[in-house]
Amino acid sequence: GEKLLVQELAFPTINELFGLPKGKIIVAGPCAVESEKELDAVARSLKECGVRFLRGGAFKPRTSPYDFQGLGEEGMKIIDRVRRRYDMLAVSEIMDVRDIELGMRYTDVIQVGARNMQNFSLLKELGRIDFPVVLKRGMMTTVREFLLATEYIVSGGNQKVILCERGIRTFEDSTRNTLDIACIPLVKTQSSLPILVDLSHSLGRKDIALPVARAALACGADGLMLEVHNHPRDAKCDKAQQMDLTEFRTFLEQLNKREDDA
Ligand code: PEP
Ligand code: MN
Repeated sequence: GEKLLVQELAFPTINELFGLPKGKIIVAGPCAVESEKELDAVARSLKECGVRFLRGGAFKPRTSPYDFQGLGEEGMKIIDRVRRRYDMLAVSEIMDVRDIELGMRYTDVIQVGARNMQNFSLLKELGRIDFPVVLKRGMMTTVREFLLATEYIVSGGNQKVILCERGIRTFEDSTRNTLDIACIPLVKTQSSLPILVDLSHSLGRKDIALPVARAALACGADGLMLEVHNHPRDAKCDKAQQMDLTEFRTFLEQLNKREDDA
């Protein structure tokens, strides 16, 4: 196909975008913002572990309209208070162009979820702002389509884009999605875009998160996204994949140990 801007531009690294020292990024936090108390407890613990990016959805794209849809604007205000309390950078999804202003006011990074990767009107609007965006790969999309979706944002003038591979749908049902590990070097050979790997939504489970995380980083991923909840069993969504605080701390220790040994 024709040469794309995403193939030619020099994109800022995640560390450059936020003035952070070099190193892999961890974005962690609950699937959804359920209450200020819950988010506060998770954020405090993550901060102690050295995590800089706090995630948590206020607008939840649920398969069933009868499932918990998120706290909406109130959830965004909770994220804002908690990020300030712990001096963390907040990442949260919006699904509608009408919520871009809320995203810019209350978070540091607007997330576009997998289901909206090809919501082209949303992508075009995000291209018109000067604000970091995490764009997750659609679960039924090719790497080329992922890059073309990115092109919608970048061609509008916003180069603050971070990609996120979160698995694609295949016949394999041992994991929630199939993590396409090849996506990382494919993106890296075609562009300078930063890319994260979301272990939680790729796998839908946490028992194999550590080896898969190592593979993702070995493939050149700039960081990882993980769901962490105070009491995963009582979580309002994605119970099976959310780590509790102890599991997360152990995961991080193991991951760092390996890096130091290497
Ligand atoms: C999320 O990160 O909260 C989420 C819903 O993930 P995805 O869009 O990848 O399914
Ligand atoms: Mn989730």
